Amino acid sequence: MVSKKPRIVIIGAGMAGLTAANKLYTSANSKQAFELSVVEGGSRIGGRISSSEFCGDRIETGATWIHGIEGSPVYKIAQETNSLHSDQPWECMDGIPEHPVTVAEGGHELNPSFVEPISKLFKNLMDFIQGNAIDSDGFATEILKHCARSCGPGNLSVGVGNWSRKSLQEAVFAMHESTQRTFTSADDLCTLDYNAEREYIMFPGEEITIARGYSSVIESLASVLPVGMIQLGRRVEKIEWQADGLDGIHMENGYCNNSRPVKLHFCDGSTMSADHVIVTVSLGVLKRGTSQDSGMFNPPLPSFKTGAISRLGYGVVNKVFLQLSQETTDFPFLQMVFHPQDSELRHPKIPHWIRRTSFLCPIYSNSRIVLSWFTGQEALELESLTEEEIVSGFSATVPNLLPSKPTHKSCNGTTEQPRKANK
Ligand SMILES: Cc1cc2nc3c(=O)[nH]c(=O)nc-3n(C[C@H](O)[C@H](O)[C@H](O)COP(=O)(O)OP(=O)(O)OC[C@H]3O[C@@H](n4cnc5c(N)ncnc54)[C@H](O)[C@@H]3O)c2cc1C
Repeated sequence: MVSKKPRIVIIGAGMAGLTAANKLYTSANSKQAFELSVVEGGSRIGGRISSSEFCGDRIETGATWIHGIEGSPVYKIAQETNSLHSDQPWECMDGIPEHPVTVAEGGHELNPSFVEPISKLFKNLMDFIQGNAIDSDGFATEILKHCARSCGPGNLSVGVGNWSRKSLQEAVFAMHESTQRTFTSADDLCTLDYNAEREYIMFPGEEITIARGYSSVIESLASVLPVGMIQLGRRVEKIEWQADGLDGIHMENGYCNNSRPVKLHFCDGSTMSADHVIVTVSLGVLKRGTSQDSGMFNPPLPSFKTGAISRLGYGVVNKVFLQLSQETTDFPFLQMVFHPQDSELRHPKIPHWIRRTSFLCPIYSNSRIVLSWFTGQEALELESLTEEEIVSGFSATVPNLLPSKPTHKSCNGTTEQPRKANK
């Protein structure tokens, strides 16, 4: 009897699947020890990492930042493949400016001396709630001072346009909440488990972006795998596996193959058998796949796994890229402060889906491509809008914030449409 090599199939060719494939394939004696395949439902590798081009500029429709470089395997690969240098400008090459321009609805530019205490308060609150070290005495004093400022009589006297001082303070605080929502992808920050947040530890060191694009890391991981090992357009619909050993009979190409206990069913009706499967699909796919009526796993996964999958939260984050008109120059890193959705003072033409978005900024200094992030309900709503509706929403908003500056033109033609990316 010819003994067969065990077959390992990795589902998903994103960062996780390709890292697993790279590690397995480059491990000692791998070619003798097992067969390896990667099956990917989409038409490209990379999953939520995709560097692409928009109006001549390089953009990241998915992951952008290496969150801490010291000890980061992503940084190591980017460094080894010389991906951290480029002659061409790239998204966020300038990082995030220390003093962005903050403008309140109605075109009122806010003095940093007004914004910064609120920014500091918000940062301290987040640090406190996430269990990061803060100067707790100083923090308590700061909260007291802030409350005194917000609630004291001085508050009633000063304002700009139709803003009272207090409503402006609250709106700046809300702007920070919106930014924080993009970091966590939570629709509502109150739904986060801040004890669990404490377990999220970043690598130390700088946070940087990758000059030659995040996809260069993906390409490097995939480059060691032989042609044909990654199969695209192979969406898995069902995973039949054996909770209690090798009881089932598996047929593949007419060959009775009892030794492979897992059978993958693809959306085109084809199947593949395997000894081991590494599932790297996203949490959203797993949640749907383990819901009552799904049957993606047969038999269902054990309850400790389905329980963990159901308890983990996730959210939607979208990036929107727009091209500014030729005549627009020096567009700032703009922090946007809006009246709340239910305020009678809000400008009627500014769409509600922009009101919980906090910034619009060039992807690098002087680029004509500007970027904004959306999270939660608004991100979902954005997905249902046409590109014309998105452009028209921004066209109604930006002049209200930067009245003296020419606004971006409405895009037309395929290369000038806004781009959306989702998490
Ligand atoms: C807009 C955005 C910005 C982000 N910014 C950052 C950032 O700055 N820094 C950072 O570190 N992270 C960032 N992230 C998160 C980061 O992109 C992800 O954590 C990471 O890419 C996830 O990789 P993964 O392999 O786990 O999953 P994915 O990339 O989702 O890969 C899963 C793969 O499985 C495939 N698949 C799904 N279902 C099936 C099926 N049934 N059969 C076969 N294949 C299937 C999918 O097509 C996909 O290719 C961002 C994400 C988004 C969307």
